[in-house]
Amino acid sequence: MASESHQHSKEPSNPNASESPFKVTMQYDPQGEWTLHRLESATSFGCGQCNKQKKAKLVATRHGQWDDLCCNGCYGLLLSKGK
Ligand SMILES: [Zn+2]
Repeated sequence: MASESHQHSKEPSNPNASESPFKVTMQYDPQGEWTLHRLESATSFGCGQCNKQKKAKLVATRHGQWDDLCCNGCYGLLLSKGK
């Protein structure tokens, strides 16, 4: 009997986290549902909290999802509010 081998599937370590479209140089410890990242260079993104277009090296993701971003300012406010 020949057993089939399927060794080609590459599973991500965290299936719930989406892959970063940016170059992340550093990932901080998650704070609640938010995780702060430092990017290699200042990057434009839309903050989902203040709904402004930002350009920064620091960006936070919610639940590890890169389609739900937050700027450093809002991230600090969220943490100071304890949520
Ligand atoms: Zn913001």
